Amino acid sequence: MPELPEVETVRRGLQQHTAAMPIARVVVHRARAIAAPRQDPAAFCLALQGRLVQQWLRRGKYLIAQLDQGHWGVHLRMTGQFLWLEAERSAGHPPCRHTRVQLWDPDGRELRFIDTRSFAEMWWVPPGKPVETVITGLQRLGPEPFDPAFDAAYLKGKLKGSSRPIKNALLDQALVAGVGNIYADESLFAAGIRPTTPSGRISAARLETLHQALVRVLEQSIGAGGTTFSDFRDLTGTNGNYGGMAWVYRRGGQSCRRCGETIRRTTLGGRSSHWCPSCQH
Ligand SMILES: [Zn+2]
Repeated sequence: MPELPEVETVRRGLQQHTAAMPIARVVVHRARAIAAPRQDPAAFCLALQGRLVQQWLRRGKYLIAQLDQGHWGVHLRMTGQFLWLEAERSAGHPPCRHTRVQLWDPDGRELRFIDTRSFAEMWWVPPGKPVETVITGLQRLGPEPFDPAFDAAYLKGKLKGSSRPIKNALLDQALVAGVGNIYADESLFAAGIRPTTPSGRISAARLETLHQALVRVLEQSIGAGGTTFSDFRDLTGTNGNYGGMAWVYRRGGQSCRRCGETIRRTTLGGRSSHWCPSCQH
C-alpha cells in the first residue's frame, strides 16, 4: 500500500507532467472509482472537462489537484497508480481491464489511472466548497510528519497514559498523517524501540529519537522515489529503490543487518510488525 513517500513521489510526477495541463476529455471506466459526486461518472467528467490543473498538493496519503476552478482529489488506497502517456503511446496502448479513469490534454497526451484492487477513490470538489467537506477523510488527519507542530512534545502529550503499542499509534492517521506499516517498522528499528512498547511508557528523550528517525526514514525514501515493497510504480512505471535499504520490514527470520540476531515478526493490530529483539528495547 502506498505510504507517504510513495504518494509524495506520485505527487512530484503529477506536478512535473500535468501542472498547467488543460483537461480536454475524461473517460471513467468504473463508477466505483468516483466517490464524489458519488458513483456519478457523467457528472465527474463534465466537471473536470475544460478545467486547468494548476498544482498538485499532498495531505497524508491524499493527492489534491488545485484546478482553475475547484479541486480534484485522489486516494490511491492499495494499488491505485497513475501513468503518463505521450500522445503516440496513448493512441497505441488501449486501456487494460484495470484502467479506471483516462484524462487527455488537447494534444492527445494522457494521464491514465489504473487500479487492480479497485479501492482507490476520486473526488470532485466544486469551487467555493472547502475541500474537507467533500473529502471528509481529511478531517481526521493528524499533522504531517514534516510539520513543525509534529515533534516529541506533541507525541508525549498525545501518547500520555496510553497502553496502546507504539506501532499501532504510529499507524493511526489521527496521530500523524501518512505513516504506514513499512515506515513505522523502519523508524522503530532506527529509534531502537520495540513495536509492542506501550506508547505512554516511552520517555520524552526516546520520543525525540523516534521523531527524528521517522522524519529521516521518510525523507530518505522520498529521495529514493518510494519503496519497492508494494506494487508501487511512479508515473513512468518505475519502481523505487528503498527496498535495498530495509533494516527489518519483511525481513522476519533473516539476520539483523546490524547485530546478526534473527528478526522477529509479530502481528499487531492485524498488521505484521518486524523487529530485532537485540537492537530494539
Ligand atoms: Zn539487531
